[in-house]
Amino acid sequence: MTFSEFNFVAELQEGLDAMGFEKPTPIQEQAIPIIMEGRDLIATAQTGTGKTAAFILPVLNQISQSQKKGVKVLIIAPTRELAIQIDQQIQGLAYFLGISSIPIYGGGDGNTWEQQRKALELGAEIVVATPGRLIALLAGGKVKFDALENLILDEADRMLDMGFSDDILTIIQHLPKKRQTLLFSATMPPKIRKFSQQILHDPEQISIALGKTAKGVSQYVYHVYDGQKEALVNHILKSQDFQAVIIFCSTKDKVKSLFKTLKKQFQVEAFHADLDQSEREQIMSAFKNKSLKILVATDILSRGIDVEDIEMVVNFDTPNDPEDYVHRVGRTARAEKKGKAVTFVNEKDRYKYRNIQNLIGLEIEVVPNPEEIGPGPDLAAASSGKSYGKSAGGAKPKGKKNKFKSKPRSNPSTKPRENPESGEKKPSSVKSSDNKFRKRKNIKDG
Ligand code: ADP
Ligand code: MG
Repeated sequence: MTFSEFNFVAELQEGLDAMGFEKPTPIQEQAIPIIMEGRDLIATAQTGTGKTAAFILPVLNQISQSQKKGVKVLIIAPTRELAIQIDQQIQGLAYFLGISSIPIYGGGDGNTWEQQRKALELGAEIVVATPGRLIALLAGGKVKFDALENLILDEADRMLDMGFSDDILTIIQHLPKKRQTLLFSATMPPKIRKFSQQILHDPEQISIALGKTAKGVSQYVYHVYDGQKEALVNHILKSQDFQAVIIFCSTKDKVKSLFKTLKKQFQVEAFHADLDQSEREQIMSAFKNKSLKILVATDILSRGIDVEDIEMVVNFDTPNDPEDYVHRVGRTARAEKKGKAVTFVNEKDRYKYRNIQNLIGLEIEVVPNPEEIGPGPDLAAASSGKSYGKSAGGAKPKGKKNKFKSKPRSNPSTKPRENPESGEKKPSSVKSSDNKFRKRKNIKDG
């Protein structure tokens, strides 16, 4: 289908054209009609599937026809980066509508705070806020949400993981009871379901192909002892002139220590919760404009943020939650591009690794350790009873069908491309020649 079938007001359709959005993604196709009917909605779809526009478009269409004054839409998101990103997408799509939005987030200096407070009082029509800062502003008593029509919770799973559920409930006490509430999430654990019952009214539910990793990602695994990880990541980083790599560690302490080691040889930055806002922004903009090529990060970076052209994601630690694997790997190969995801698995993490393979429905190819690093533990026996060592390259589908018919692009300035239908059923398959690491002569091949 095309966007024109939604019969959006002309200025909104113009915004879509300007952004280069031609076809709705599956989540947009399903969510938009429900939202336009005025229903509450719980929607689940993995990162990178276009959830932002799925709620922005119908909501913009609705408020463009509303006569009320004041804040009409409140979007709550877990991190300042995400709030900024959502705000930017609103600015793009709402360009011809003349609808105003403002991101509200913690950190920054007194100036930012003052600007945010003023903009709120002047009545931006859409507010995109992180929970903590919004609570602080509400406590000041100057912000009124009497005109509010829509509440949207984006990345709801992440917000609950970060402990924001009480804050969100407090915010909701300041909102009109009669409103439309939309909850978007990449995953749907039971606690989200419970939480949503408290704040949504008779919601419609949609969920799209959870747990699939993007099709263009070549996924590889190394079996390693902890003591081998640093040498291996060094080896991998030197194997090619990478332009954009994210290395994920499980804790911020590990991020900091790996950062210390890597910065002796590479230009690298660490991204974790202890940074203040301006540090985060500096790092992200350097990473986006490619002046910074390597980022070591915690999962704070794994969800939601849309950084384009990531060549490789390295899971220095196997993600605890298999869904975090999908999120981390979702940082690469967005928008039909090719990307690579490499995961280090030690003896302790073999079961996490098995759960990941079960979730994504793929067998991930094991790459033998480079000679200089020496053999790692033999984990094949534990990882679902199969041996992957001899597979030809890349991950292999386990036979589940990939439900995606089309995938969003991430660069609004170019024309969208269609998914080639062939290859749909082989989400991550690559030729072994695509595996750059194998080409190096000092790597054993089996
Ligand atoms: P999610 O919130 O599901 O992780 P986003 O909303 O951030 O995903 O969208 C990912 C990327 O896809 C963004 O860069 C966005 O501009 C782009 N995008 C979204 N919808 C479309 C569409 N219908 N056509 C083309 N690109 C799209
Ligand atoms: Mg999102």
